[in-house]
Amino acid sequence: MNNESIKIPQATAKRLPLYYRFLKNLSTSGKQRVSSAELSEAVKVDSATIRRDFSYFGALGKKGYGYNVQYLLTFFRKTLDQDELTYVTLIGVGNLGTAFLHYNFMKNNNTKIVMAFDIDKNKVGTEIGGVPVFHMDDIEKDLPDNVTVAILTVPAPVAQPIADRLVKQGVKGILNFTPARINVPENIRIHHIDLAVELQSLVYFLKHYSTD
Ligand code: ATP
Repeated sequence: MNNESIKIPQATAKRLPLYYRFLKNLSTSGKQRVSSAELSEAVKVDSATIRRDFSYFGALGKKGYGYNVQYLLTFFRKTLDQDELTYVTLIGVGNLGTAFLHYNFMKNNNTKIVMAFDIDKNKVGTEIGGVPVFHMDDIEKDLPDNVTVAILTVPAPVAQPIADRLVKQGVKGILNFTPARINVPENIRIHHIDLAVELQSLVYFLKHYSTD
């Protein structure tokens, strides 16, 4: 299993954490095989898509037998870098940021928020959910090289300049929870999650596509 030689489509890669979490639970409960139908039911992805996704990993399920849970887990762990801890910083300890600091991401992933930054005097110097909060002015001084991912929960107008500073500090991936569209160099990965838009789109689908 040499992951370097495997090119997985982005849509497939995005589903990996979903598969991984479910397979880990299966493995914990002692299950050795799983069918694509069972997986499909659990992760809500149609079984044809699952079969196609899994074929990229060289995991070809056998008819009436299903997939080998351990094989898939080992593959996912490697692909998702689960064997390695990824250090994360969070910028903006407001309502959403505070909730993330309290949330235990380690439960399902090997990612850990190790430090947070803010400009609010009342928050700087405190610890929230066991994570120390530093002043944003000190990020160039205080952010260690091994922190490669940042979560952005600041007000939208400051998102771009903060992203620029993070990139300068060597951050490779940004999870942007602000509604701002941020530009980053090509080699930096940015994922946008706008909770308000997601909620609106859900409501829209309920209104326009609901069958009852
Ligand atoms: P709160 O109720 O704590 O203000 P909020 O999520 O409604 O939470 P926002 O105005 O969205 O507040 O700000 C989120 C957080 O980002 C706040 O803690 C704020 O102090 C912080 N913040 C604002 N500007 C910056 C900045 N330039 N750099 C870092 N953090 C910032």
